[in-house]
Amino acid sequence: MILDGKAVSNKILEHLKLKIQEFNIKAHLVVILVGDDPASQIYVRNKKLAAEKIGIRSTVIKYKSAITEAELLDKIEQLNHDANVTGILVQLPLPEHIDKNKVAQAISPKKDVDGFSPENVGKLAMGLEPYFYPATPQGIIMLLDEYDIPIQGADALVIGRSNIVGRPMAQMLLRRNATVTMAHSYTKDLDSKIKTADIVISAVGKKIVRCKMVNKNSVIVDVGIFRDSNGKLTGDVDFEMLSSSVKYITPVPGGVGPMTIASLMYNASKVYH
Ligand code: NAP
Repeated sequence: MILDGKAVSNKILEHLKLKIQEFNIKAHLVVILVGDDPASQIYVRNKKLAAEKIGIRSTVIKYKSAITEAELLDKIEQLNHDANVTGILVQLPLPEHIDKNKVAQAISPKKDVDGFSPENVGKLAMGLEPYFYPATPQGIIMLLDEYDIPIQGADALVIGRSNIVGRPMAQMLLRRNATVTMAHSYTKDLDSKIKTADIVISAVGKKIVRCKMVNKNSVIVDVGIFRDSNGKLTGDVDFEMLSSSVKYITPVPGGVGPMTIASLMYNASKVYH
């Protein structure tokens, strides 16, 4: 069965729109875009459109890649103190001369809709409630919950250990009482780990989960998104071969991508004072 991220995302966005209207939520998301990376421009545009569609005010601030780290940090500080701004997001990647960790540290945890600030990351790791959970793993949990896929007690394998997906994903699954294995480029015998897992979440960016590796009860979540040698958008999982032989699977596109947007909008609609 296909986990239809697009449909679930639309449902969540519709629900958020009604909630924002009903409770007269005055959310204002500021997205900072540095440089002219074409993919980042598309992501930022999509975030702005999604916000406007559900009644969240959004402002995009664009800087040339020559902006200094100090100038960017100053701007963030100013936004932290602006009572009219409820969410701040700095689109990654940043130019090399800007330290993304310093940027993450600069954003107020109560406006950190990406959930990347040390306070929010630390709270998640300590099993406390962060102000915001990172959008992609939170979106994946929302998708699993929508299909009533049991997480508690499940053997979950997370492939990839990035700060934006793999690590917070593992923490969130652990929080929901899954037994979590984290795999990365040094992991031995990945195939057998994939085969025995109940839930496989792959966030690598390479075709890595193939037909013979899985079992028929697996739930496969494909976070990866990249272009194959023919320029076609694809994911980490061999979807054609696997879609008929596993219990649940996400397509690419139309799986995790739209859930990330819905989850980000869920965060952007939260207002802390
Ligand atoms: P990343 O920073 O690109 O890192 C990739 C991870 O994969 C690393 O932890 C790496 O291990 C691991 N890896 C590489 N080769 C491996 C192998 N052969 N076996 C096992 N693990 C391997 O990760 P990311 O930023 O999370 O991105 C991963 C993919 O998800 C990309 O395609 C990205 O575009 C996509 N993505 C999609 C969304 C969405 O909303 N759909 C959101 C975010 C990211 P090491 O740590 O050992 O190097």
